[in-house]
Amino acid sequence: MLQNHNNAFNERRRLLIESLRRRGNLSETVLDAMMKVPREKFLDSSFHFRAYEDTALPIDANQTISQPYTVAYMTTLLDVKEGDKILEIGTGSGYQACILALLGAKVFTIERISSLVDKAKKVFHELGLNINTRIGDGTIGWKEHSPYQGIIVTAAAPDVPDSLMEQLALGGKLVVPVGSKSYQSMYLIERKTENDFNKSSTDSFKFVPLIGKEGWKLG
Ligand code: SAM
Repeated sequence: MLQNHNNAFNERRRLLIESLRRRGNLSETVLDAMMKVPREKFLDSSFHFRAYEDTALPIDANQTISQPYTVAYMTTLLDVKEGDKILEIGTGSGYQACILALLGAKVFTIERISSLVDKAKKVFHELGLNINTRIGDGTIGWKEHSPYQGIIVTAAAPDVPDSLMEQLALGGKLVVPVGSKSYQSMYLIERKTENDFNKSSTDSFKFVPLIGKEGWKLG
């Protein structure tokens, strides 16, 4: 359970969060949530000793758990409020979804690789978190539960998927890295009215590709 979590990693986690705080552009609420999450639980035991480095690390199926700074940055842009319905595309290890849940969001997360979903579900259960998972192509969203106050895409898109824009609530925010396979700009899209979206782009990042109908083609 998260509340009772207390182990040798606590000090390393505190140092990581302190270093993120010093960057000055990240939400305190998000950093507080990250302070409660045992990142090592989302990694194979051979990577536990690196869990509190500020780097992306390998998980199964040639995928990655995102860098803590990137997680904090995207979650800051998403500006989650208690009770918000949030859709995540790219469950991966489940770490990002866990932080969204700790911020009080009702979380829906989609992953195309079933073995990753199986693993993430075990960790959610172990941590006592109620997170809705789905195996499939997240580029077309999860229409049944839309609209969402926030949508976060944790893989690199060639363009902003139209389906995700359509599934945003009025006032909702979509955070998505868009660009080539080598590097992407972080886009923040806010739905002002039914047909009016504010788009801005911020820093550069490097993600694994978003593969699907409204993403990159496989191969
Ligand atoms: N959010 C994850 C975490 O906290 O560990 C990191 C995600 S990893 C950088 C990107 C993930 O997106 C990979 O697991 C990949 O399989 C997944 N992915 C790529 N295309 C997808 C799609 N169309 N739908 C759902 N997941 C997708």
